[in-house]
Amino acid sequence: MLTDTPPRKANRAQFLDSDRLKTLDLPKDGRLPPITERIEEAMKAEKGPDVRRACAEFLEAASEFYKVPACRIRVLAARPRRVRERGTIELFGDYDPETMVIRVWMRTAVRKEITSFGTFLSTLCHEFCHHLDFKKFGFADSWHTRGFYERAGVLYHYARGTPLKTLFWVPVAGRRWRIDWQRTNRSGKNNVASS
Ligand SMILES: [Zn+2]
Repeated sequence: MLTDTPPRKANRAQFLDSDRLKTLDLPKDGRLPPITERIEEAMKAEKGPDVRRACAEFLEAASEFYKVPACRIRVLAARPRRVRERGTIELFGDYDPETMVIRVWMRTAVRKEITSFGTFLSTLCHEFCHHLDFKKFGFADSWHTRGFYERAGVLYHYARGTPLKTLFWVPVAGRRWRIDWQRTNRSGKNNVASS
């Protein structure tokens, strides 16, 4: 995962706000995890309409909690090889702020296999966080900042009931950052071991 290049002038302040905002309130009433389980079951059964229904429920419950208009979902079969999403190439889903529609793909592009549940849920949370950027935080755009990935991770781990990982970042050219997965996963294991 790689962050976007910071915008030059306009929206620079919002970009930095997004970068600094590393956490997200969570609906601690437990409304999301059971829906997440239904998504997983439907995926295992390879039942597209059930996956779609469970995703729609997930987004409805999350939108209600964050007090944003509900976004819609389209679950598509095989994903295209490349989806150009907001200037970056994302392979698993996208979000259109105009129509508030999230699209996610259930199958991989090349071998048409079912996407792993973790990847699928992580995509759903990622795209929903784009929705939050526009509708909750009022950003003019939704950048992939370090904060953005942290927020998406907070939602994902909560929904899945897995321990939150501390993300370690390394700077790369163009004032961008990438996740150091080795370090991140190593520290994740320690979290599990000590809990
Ligand atoms: Zn994105």
